[in-house]
Amino acid sequence: MTSNPTAQGILVLNSGSSSLKYQLLDFTGQVRAHGLIERIEAGSAVGDHASSDYASAIDGVLDSLPADVTVVGVGHRVVHGGFYKEAKLLTPEVIGEIERLCALAPLHNPPALEGIRASMRRRPGVPHVAVFDTAFHATMPPRAYRYAISEALYQENNGELRRYGAHGTSHAYMARRVQELHAHPLKRIITLHLGNGASAAAILDGVSVDTSMGFTPLEGLVMGTRSGDIDAGLVMWLSQKYGPDNINAILNKQSGLKGMSGLSNDLRDLHAAGTPEAQLALDVMVYRLIKYVGAYTAALGGLDALVFTGGIGENDAVVRAQVIAGLHFFGLVLDEEANNVRGQERRITTANSLPAYVIPANEEGEIARQVREVAGI
Ligand code: ADP
Repeated sequence: MTSNPTAQGILVLNSGSSSLKYQLLDFTGQVRAHGLIERIEAGSAVGDHASSDYASAIDGVLDSLPADVTVVGVGHRVVHGGFYKEAKLLTPEVIGEIERLCALAPLHNPPALEGIRASMRRRPGVPHVAVFDTAFHATMPPRAYRYAISEALYQENNGELRRYGAHGTSHAYMARRVQELHAHPLKRIITLHLGNGASAAAILDGVSVDTSMGFTPLEGLVMGTRSGDIDAGLVMWLSQKYGPDNINAILNKQSGLKGMSGLSNDLRDLHAAGTPEAQLALDVMVYRLIKYVGAYTAALGGLDALVFTGGIGENDAVVRAQVIAGLHFFGLVLDEEANNVRGQERRITTANSLPAYVIPANEEGEIARQVREVAGI
């Protein structure tokens, strides 16, 4: 394979709580380098000179990049972007806002900040852009993002006790890509990101008008280890019985597919086990998916396309078939042969049906695209 010696590239960094994922994409979208560094010891993300193992992890990544690609911009995935509606060039002001938002996303924003600071120190000459998971959903109208809590409580907390959503980069990519694939204009789209975390989005004219994750990623669909929607009264009850300190673990780590099946958060294990508990976990997940698509179809005033992505959405033909069967009355008819593939971009409904597509997630590609747009490169 010959490579262009003058290629320009965008480095996409995804700093998790103890890991760093990266991809270097050239301007044709080709991945020129990628990797995952695990077991990073996080330091303090607060303060201008925060240093930690992130700095050496980023040094290692930058030193390992191929010499024939020049990094002309860096994109940073940031989970919580508060009220930001789009990706932002990283200025001291934006960094300050990400730091402030650590209070709302204590597990996710601090490592992203560490990655940002370390890579900006190493590559000060190129634009660094934050791409927020929440940004795509910042267009939601108040009727979708507000909880019915008192106005006084809402104001007292600076209007921050609201729904934000997540997986925005993935939903944005699906909405854009499905329109590229489909010959006719698609006004009303529902996108399903079904991975270990899972969320649905209702998209009207390319803009998110509702999504299933809320103030935190706990709300909404049944996920690998999260319960999704649950009565707040049950949370109070659990809190009294098991103590408030245990609620996070109970609902975020010990629920969902893993908790219900008592086996695993991986759907492949549940199919293989075939126990009544595993089957029930699958049933609850699929039933809730069907309900959400029904509700969002009403919110959108109709449906023009349904899109699946994420580890489950891309690979699990059974879940897709069950969801589409439950939506038969909407005019969705599965093309069984088309559905019976894994991880491929394609339409999975018959020619006369309302269209449903599988679109493999491409968050890094979408982040790189947004970096170029924001930085004008
Ligand atoms: P994350 O949300 O961590 O990025 P992924 O989008 O990679 O996760 O999804 C991971 C999940 O996808 C697994 O836990 C499993 O449930 C599901 N999955 C992955 N591959 C398959 C497969 N071949 N068949 C069914 N489910 C799969």
